[in-house]
Amino acid sequence: MASVARPDTKTLFQIDPNWFAENGRDLREEVHALLCEECRVWYPVPADALLVDHIHPETGEVTRVDALWESLAEHCGHLPGYIAPSTPLTTALFRALLANGNRPLTPEQLHKRVGKSNPSGILKVLMGAEIENGIVPVE
Ligand SMILES: [Zn+2]
Repeated sequence: MASVARPDTKTLFQIDPNWFAENGRDLREEVHALLCEECRVWYPVPADALLVDHIHPETGEVTRVDALWESLAEHCGHLPGYIAPSTPLTTALFRALLANGNRPLTPEQLHKRVGKSNPSGILKVLMGAEIENGIVPVE
């Protein structure tokens, strides 16, 4: 993945699934761990998840998405406590992107979603020496 020259608070960031593979982490398992109890009844183990149709609310376009991600985006990610005041910032940013179906978000948008820190503080965290949870700037 090529690097973005000068990331700022309007630069889009997303989770790089390859980073998880390279760092010995299982992204699907981590998504599964964040499902609420209700959704876990439907998908008891990560491997069970199927592809489901997602209909874009505005364009009506149908795409096949992973059911685990879809559950987070449509349900669990909206529950109180998914991002709590006590959730560490790096975890909160990761959860916010997961609940957005890993569609890219800017530090400004992330700030609105997590309600912590501020856009430039979030940018600083995301551009830190260590990549946290595979979150990288998007071309
Ligand atoms: Zn749920």
